[in-house]
Amino acid sequence: MDAKLEFNGFHTRSVHAGARPDGVTGSRAQPIHQTTSYVFEDSESAAAYFNLQEYGNTYSRIMNPTVGALEERVANLEGAVGGVAFASGLAAQSAALFTMLQPGDHVIASKSLYGGTITQLKHLLRKLSVDLDFADASSPDDWKSLIRENTKLFFGETIGNPSGVILDIETLSSIAHEASIPLMIDNTFATPYLCRPMEWGADIVVHSVTKFLGGHGTSIGGMVLESGEFDWSNGRFPVISEPSPAYHDLEFHETFGTFGYLMKLRAETLRDLGSCMSPFNAFLIGLGIETLPLRMRKHVENAREVAKFLSSSGRVEKVHYVDYSNSEQQGLAQKYLSGSGGAVFCFDLKGGRAQGTKFIESLQLFSHLANVGDAKSLVIHPASTTHRQLSDEELSHAGIGPGTIRLSVGIEDLQDLLADLGNGLDAV
Ligand SMILES: *Cc1c(COP(=O)(O)O)cnc(C)c1O
Repeated sequence: MDAKLEFNGFHTRSVHAGARPDGVTGSRAQPIHQTTSYVFEDSESAAAYFNLQEYGNTYSRIMNPTVGALEERVANLEGAVGGVAFASGLAAQSAALFTMLQPGDHVIASKSLYGGTITQLKHLLRKLSVDLDFADASSPDDWKSLIRENTKLFFGETIGNPSGVILDIETLSSIAHEASIPLMIDNTFATPYLCRPMEWGADIVVHSVTKFLGGHGTSIGGMVLESGEFDWSNGRFPVISEPSPAYHDLEFHETFGTFGYLMKLRAETLRDLGSCMSPFNAFLIGLGIETLPLRMRKHVENAREVAKFLSSSGRVEKVHYVDYSNSEQQGLAQKYLSGSGGAVFCFDLKGGRAQGTKFIESLQLFSHLANVGDAKSLVIHPASTTHRQLSDEELSHAGIGPGTIRLSVGIEDLQDLLADLGNGLDAV
């Protein structure tokens, strides 16, 4: 946002952060800089850019002005010092991990994670010879007991997928920091509208901007953000504090201080993995964010009423929205999410798999597909789709049964959503 202005409201920042009228054309909307590369002023500034002595555009795999505007917008909303965009949420996560880990390290992650993340951690980390333990999302003591000499990261989701368990971010961050370990939070389901994990001590936040931030189911993208608070020179992270052979022995932490991790993430990991976001996707996602607070308010309002409606149906076994019967989870919802449980949640139909299929096939307004966070309402059966690669034991750890249905509640009129779901339940 224009440095002269001090308009700090969340809605205002959603519309304005990262966006300025274009200096050359005056264009008020964010221009799409559909270019691979940028003409250097002279050889000297070209060299300074490549040496990271000056910050400037060289090649769109590493940075692009349209993508940069989106990075600035999301960083502003999360209260981060900066962010780096990626081609997808999973690309962002792998890059975040690649930047801080090396063979022999150990990671502790929540059991309640997006299915694709569980698979990514289990298989990708093993290939890198990094050890992994899964901890109970609702038991900080479990995380503490799993810490080892070589533990380098705590990783969890603000609202666990699909069980809906809410992470006690503040408690986990203090346990992590006592052991000189950073806490990384996937804030995709809460979005910075409901929760800003860095305000509770999280060091790194990752997003699948594919979901609520983009908000319209048009574009895949991801983001890694950093608070700038974590001390990467504490002795546990030589990959960040020691001279890097992958960047002519640059010492990222020493040279860039607060920005050391993010600079390494961009200048080395994004450069080498190459999973950059396209300018067009950045444009669409940035546009989506302008209405994030308006959409989220409606998403969350609708979701709460839909959860209530389902709970009162005799055909539903259990609704995994905020567990209001559990005072601890209710307290966490109040503390971190203004009492909400977001807009993505699961419920179990009585009768299991066959009933689940019948229910989904009877819906007309809810689209049957593998995404969440669209303005349109969505539905899926996790056991046969998103979480298909998991064993029964892993499924049950993740809170998924054979009759579990996942809803992503959109911003349509509530009465239409309830009518559609009512028809589905009648068909079972
Ligand atoms: C979708 C999702 C991801 C993965 O993001 P992609 O953009 O699909 O790669 C990660 N975490 C959560 C919570 C998600 O919902």
